[in-house]
Amino acid sequence: MSRRERILAEMGLAPIWRLRDREAAGSSHGNAFQGEESGEEAAQKPSGWMELKQAVPACTACGLHKSRTQTVFGVGDEKADWLLVGEAPGAEEDRLGDPFVGQAGKLLDNMLAAIGLDRRTNVYIANVLKCRPPGNRNPEPGEVAKCTPFLLKQIELIQPKLIVAMGRFAAQTLLASDASIASLRGRLHRYAGVPLVVTYHPAYLLRNLPDKAKAWEDLVFARRTMQSLLDTRESASA
Ligand code: URA
Repeated sequence: MSRRERILAEMGLAPIWRLRDREAAGSSHGNAFQGEESGEEAAQKPSGWMELKQAVPACTACGLHKSRTQTVFGVGDEKADWLLVGEAPGAEEDRLGDPFVGQAGKLLDNMLAAIGLDRRTNVYIANVLKCRPPGNRNPEPGEVAKCTPFLLKQIELIQPKLIVAMGRFAAQTLLASDASIASLRGRLHRYAGVPLVVTYHPAYLLRNLPDKAKAWEDLVFARRTMQSLLDTRESASA
């Protein structure tokens, strides 16, 4: 089983990773990923950043494409050790095309700065959904299922050392779990072999200020985990 197949199987999404032939499908769902792939279809799937960056804005796989201003792909260092995953773009993100640029984003940037991270240099930030759900409603299961392959491809390309899942949708999607954030935080999980830490979503923290201390504990835990990952690799290569 290839790494990609293992990732998708672990997510309960296999076999779905292919771009449907737009002409043959003759529908508005030209970029849905589903079914088994033929050689011709395999040649069309996004194999690298360039293809993925073309596939996301062209996607019409779910109804969210009708109300979006633009897709929100992700931002940061494409080779970052740290990958932060949020839920979905909000109004500001939909307007500007970058993730976490509203109030929640300011909080996120401040928290990242406190552990020496910066979206411009050493972290990558992406969302489960690439389009804004109207009125900032919760993502629907069908939307998550259609959009998740884009996130999985980003993870495959970035190959982060550590993933931080922010909020219920990121954590439950990547861990294929319906457990609460409270029960998932404070311990190390794995997504396709990559260590994963769960924390609260920054927008939740803006509404629940006392839980900021818990989110800080999560980031300290994540930083400690990263340090031990780096130490282990250093001693293995010495
Ligand atoms: N909330 C998210 O989950 N992602 C964003 O990009 C903005 C707000």
